[in-house]
Amino acid sequence: MKPAGALSKMALRRVGAHIRPGVTTAELDRIAEQIIRLHGGVPAFKGYGGFPASICSSVNAQIVHGIPSTETVLEEGDIVSIDTGAVVDGWVGDNAWTFYCGEPDPIDRELCEVTRDCLKRAIAMAIPGNHLGDIGAAVQEYAERHGFGIVREYVGHGVGHVMHEEPNVPNYGRRGRGVRLQAGMVIAIEPMITRGNPKNETMPNRWTVVTRDRSTAAHYENTIAITDDGPVILTQDAEGPWCPMEGGALA
Ligand code: MG
Repeated sequence: MKPAGALSKMALRRVGAHIRPGVTTAELDRIAEQIIRLHGGVPAFKGYGGFPASICSSVNAQIVHGIPSTETVLEEGDIVSIDTGAVVDGWVGDNAWTFYCGEPDPIDRELCEVTRDCLKRAIAMAIPGNHLGDIGAAVQEYAERHGFGIVREYVGHGVGHVMHEEPNVPNYGRRGRGVRLQAGMVIAIEPMITRGNPKNETMPNRWTVVTRDRSTAAHYENTIAITDDGPVILTQDAEGPWCPMEGGALA
């Protein structure tokens, strides 16, 4: 699954390098699709359940599943969550990152850093013998300690030949509870954290999930293999599993 993960990360990194005020999310979508196909992959999201694009691009109060559009022009101070997935040789990779477009509001910056660190803490729990509740609790405890909200309606998931497999991987839980983790399992861990109330609604386009109070949201994701040697992040390219927070950083 490493080639699928690497290409997913490469697409995510490339999109991040093009994030700047004035760019449209449709342009970011085009960039991701181009790089995925150039390297022999297929965009995992395009056509998935009827989703019309190769990336999800969720700006500010949008939590996940934002649809790229020529009419969505990024502005200075936006935070934009990009989710990319690639299929290579029948295997899926899935990852996401919330980038800054220019200089974000300081609390939005904190929200993003905390959500990223929720992901790091959760990954550390992905070892044989632990339980899904250990992963969820790691996210929940750290997010709540910082006063942020935890989205419950959308969760991480198993990954394999299909993007969404069992088990569900919630971002909340109790330590020692839930499915016992075993070597060989592959899961996408993806905290979705809100600055305000995590209650959310789906827009009339039937995809885009947005906070009801229109507070900002952040979303970070990696695909992880659970092994006897510890967690292996499959969604990493030559530069590793993490992206710079700042959009445009590699441009
Ligand atoms: Mg996912």
